[in-house]
Amino acid sequence: MSTSHHRVLIIGSGPAGLTAAIYTARASLQPLIIEGEPSSTSDQPGGQLMLTTEVENFPGFPEGIMGPELMTRCREQAARFGAQFITEKVTKVDFSARPFKAWVRDTLYTADSVIVSTGAQSLMLGLPEESRLIGHGLSTCATCDGFFFRGQNIVVVGGGDSALEEAQFLTKFAAKVTIIHRRDTLRASKIMQERAFANEKIEFLWNSQVTKLLGDEKVTGIEVASTVDGTTSTLDVTGVFVAIGHKPNTGLFEGILDMESTGYLITKPGSTYTNIEGVFACGDVQDHTYRQAITAAGSGCMAAIDCERWLEAQH
Ligand code: NAP
Repeated sequence: MSTSHHRVLIIGSGPAGLTAAIYTARASLQPLIIEGEPSSTSDQPGGQLMLTTEVENFPGFPEGIMGPELMTRCREQAARFGAQFITEKVTKVDFSARPFKAWVRDTLYTADSVIVSTGAQSLMLGLPEESRLIGHGLSTCATCDGFFFRGQNIVVVGGGDSALEEAQFLTKFAAKVTIIHRRDTLRASKIMQERAFANEKIEFLWNSQVTKLLGDEKVTGIEVASTVDGTTSTLDVTGVFVAIGHKPNTGLFEGILDMESTGYLITKPGSTYTNIEGVFACGDVQDHTYRQAITAAGSGCMAAIDCERWLEAQH
């Protein structure tokens, strides 16, 4: 078993982790980033932006930038100032004493401080076409991608507040938005329901489940099955927004870091401090409200500054 010690260990490498890496590297803290392993889910290096195509709302890119390129550039920026990367997943942590410990299988990394930026994942329908079509008509973020669906017919899957909020937002762009829900009553709050029912561009397809995404290179339609009698039908749509909830990547920290019942890490208000001194959390792993690349990056910067000041106060 090999071991190495670091001033700052950053777990996760989306916009939050990479911004924390840039800031701590520029503060000469030589952070080690355990960035995750390539996969088709959002806990891979680069996080959820690796599953998007064009990003048009990140300040500084008036022509837009591809999500993966934005993350590659952030990574290069951190490396330029001395950040080191391990392309693996942390398999276990022990924050009960200092130095803090994190393992990648048999390799132990110890650190004076830890920044957790493991992100969150959008829950998906589990259809085999999803990995091929994500970013090509299939999306999990209306704020990010709604603009690309001007004048088109699209669907939103889900019956909670997220689905209704996304649908409402998407009517700014789309010609028609159909909400597909597996039951005949919504889970969303009354006020959101009233707004959706009052919106002429929103239609509902009740008791229905999306069973197939059609299209080779981009979404051209969907197959829908009735949850009552199993009959199937096809809808010609060019956009599918899945809004059936999110799950933070916090399994590693269960019983170690304070979290809400939904799994999101709890940070002290206005800071990135967790319940363990010297362990900080930033990005979507502790944010179920905004979930934007820019807000994640902002909280990554906060974590780096909190961490740097905390380390300084230790000596
Ligand atoms: P949610 O409340 O858990 O709703 C998820 C919805 O997706 C449910 O309607 C559920 O159906 C459906 N669903 C789950 N798995 C599915 C599957 N495999 N196939 C088809 N449908 C599926 O999640 P959320 O809407 O993301 O909201 C999460 C929390 O954030 C809630 O507390 C919500 O109030 C809050 N929120 C608030 C606002 C706001 O106030 N502006 C906005 C967004 C979110 P069933 O109903 O049949 O279970």
